[in-house]
Amino acid sequence: MKKLFLKMFLIIVISFLIPILFTKRVKISETISEKVEDNNSFNYDNNMTIRLLHSQTGEVENLDLDVYLYGVVSAEMPASYELEALKAQAVVARTYTIYKMINGSKHENADICDDPNCCQAWISKENRFARWENEDKDANWQKIVIAVDSTTKNYITYEGKPINALFHSNSGGMTEMPINVWGGYYPYLISVATSGEEGYSTYNSEVILSKDELISKVLVKYPNFKIDFSDSECIKILDFTESGRVKTLKLRKYSNFGNRS
Ligand SMILES: [Zn+2]
Repeated sequence: MKKLFLKMFLIIVISFLIPILFTKRVKISETISEKVEDNNSFNYDNNMTIRLLHSQTGEVENLDLDVYLYGVVSAEMPASYELEALKAQAVVARTYTIYKMINGSKHENADICDDPNCCQAWISKENRFARWENEDKDANWQKIVIAVDSTTKNYITYEGKPINALFHSNSGGMTEMPINVWGGYYPYLISVATSGEEGYSTYNSEVILSKDELISKVLVKYPNFKIDFSDSECIKILDFTESGRVKTLKLRKYSNFGNRS
């Protein structure tokens, strides 16, 4: 029974631990501007163009903002979704882009890139069409264009300034504050309940690691790591964030002689 409990406990703990230790924390943190307070007042320019970095080729392309957003919306959300959802995606993507433009980009000669792991996804019309069924191509594209055009000039502000509109597909029922993930505090990005996500395919997910797998992953970052799984407190959750996620997890370390340290 004790072993079963330990196994269950390990599974739960590891499912929280792995995203914290091994996901995009470092990578994404490089993309997040923390200069919210440095925003200058912003006036929407009808002829706004953005400099898009194509991550595969390294080329930088100048595009009209809304034309660029056709490629973002069609890459970030299936065209089969409701038009109102596509409109919401257009507004959020426009806001995210504007924020990058006025707060500086991590890319030297571009405002934004087309890599969703770095900035936000973008796909060319040609490549998008190649992935749609023939009978859907025109209707799908028209829907995307309507979503972007009907929301043109619409973006989200906080105290009159465009926000850093970070977005994702699914919160697992509750959003998390960025400061608990990448660092950086934004007064408008707080933990809120997000009902209606239950049907999403990755609403719940689970990662199961053997003890050896856990050790080998921790060793990547902490080469001298040793753990004694017979110790019931070898893995311990110290505290949780306001959204209920694990904030601090303690792995008890052992020396070569088996002494705790
Ligand atoms: Zn980027």
